[in-house]
Amino acid sequence: MRLDLAVINGLVYLDGMFRKADIGIKDEKFAMITECGKLPEAEKVIDAEGKYVIPGGIDTHVHFRDPGHPERGTFYTESMAAAAGGTTTILEHPISSPPQYNKEILDNRKKVAAERGCIVDYAFYGAAGGQYPEEITKIAKEGIVAYKSFLHQAPEGREKEFVGLTMANDYEIYVCMKEVAKTGLMLASHAENNDIIQGLINKFRAEGKVGAEYHCPSRPPIAEYTTVQKLITMAADTGCVLELAHISTPEAMQMAKEAKARGQKVFLETCPHYLLLTEEELIKHGPYAKCNPPLRTKEIVDKLWEYVLDGTVDFIGSDHGAFLPEEKDTGYEDIFKAPAGLIGIDLRLPLLLSEVAKGERGITLERVVELCCVNPAKAFNLYPKKGVIQPGSDADLVIFDMNDKTVVDWRKNYSKSREIAKVYDGWELHCKLNQTIVRGKVVMNEGVVDPIADGTKGWGKLVLSLLKQPE
Ligand SMILES: [Zn+2]
Repeated sequence: MRLDLAVINGLVYLDGMFRKADIGIKDEKFAMITECGKLPEAEKVIDAEGKYVIPGGIDTHVHFRDPGHPERGTFYTESMAAAAGGTTTILEHPISSPPQYNKEILDNRKKVAAERGCIVDYAFYGAAGGQYPEEITKIAKEGIVAYKSFLHQAPEGREKEFVGLTMANDYEIYVCMKEVAKTGLMLASHAENNDIIQGLINKFRAEGKVGAEYHCPSRPPIAEYTTVQKLITMAADTGCVLELAHISTPEAMQMAKEAKARGQKVFLETCPHYLLLTEEELIKHGPYAKCNPPLRTKEIVDKLWEYVLDGTVDFIGSDHGAFLPEEKDTGYEDIFKAPAGLIGIDLRLPLLLSEVAKGERGITLERVVELCCVNPAKAFNLYPKKGVIQPGSDADLVIFDMNDKTVVDWRKNYSKSREIAKVYDGWELHCKLNQTIVRGKVVMNEGVVDPIADGTKGWGKLVLSLLKQPE
């Protein structure tokens, strides 16, 4: 046999640990893993001597605006940023104008992704909402990997982006969870208490307190964990598998930990910004540091790491949410007007690898691989097609050097909304990604993503949930 690609001499993540091995790739899949020097001839060889080789990153939480707002980013541009950051599969959340709550809308989004030419593999969440509960089980048959919902009415002026995506009261949550439970897929919910938040925003506005420093106090930790408590309780009753998305408080993480200990199927996601940034960023960057839930105090950030290390956190998503600078700038007049979201699809893995290298948080390389590559594949029913280096699985890899450094520079960001990338700009990362490989094809080489020259535009394929749905 002649291999398409051989990755040799690297420290490879196999069976939960790193050891030196050679990887042979043929027809987009791993063909064999051998001791060094034992592979047959290959078309192309990458020497990974002194570097680490891990399964491709799976970003569990991204928002691509195509086709509703292509000016903010498209499947093409944002997937280039994904490739730059070692992400080989993205899981796309709705808020896409309109969100994919039925087959027709989902089919259209699949078509847009294929036409734009996504660089990395992609899968879709479906929207679950109180308006169209009858669509929930139907859309599972289209291969979505999970559901997403919000617990409030559509924000004013954004009705089109939220139709079919909201559970506006407890009855709707109950009905939707019962439907989702029939599919066995996860329901991810934005877990913040809208009554508390709206009340505080109204109060602050009435007092003229509309500066950036009021964003975090308008969404206190209690707003997150009261909602998490309710969701856990209702999911237990309805048998719905729950994904707690972008969790930012230790109280909520503790509730998830206890639910898991009781045997409930609860999956916990957090994001790099909740682990690495504090509310001080709002003072520095104003609306450019606005995200929901908001950044927290240093004390909270320190506590979250305990749940990252003890296994409570299942996976880390970027919550990549692109907006234009002029949209963000509305927050200088009134912070509550600015859209919430940070971009960071390109930094999810590098930021965490850098924490390993720095050694201050006690996180290991193996744990980062679980959080960013392996656990997402398992939780979203993509395993063992994705998330593992073994014969027969998709040949998705990231190769990186822990003895090299990189400096974050927004001008080099491939996202169409690169100008809003302020919070990490200038950070020195204690790692360097060398290659990102999607199904045997090198989509990023030494920081360069060049889809036209490399023939990788449109290389990304739709990935479907491997969980069988009842007929
Ligand atoms: Zn999100």
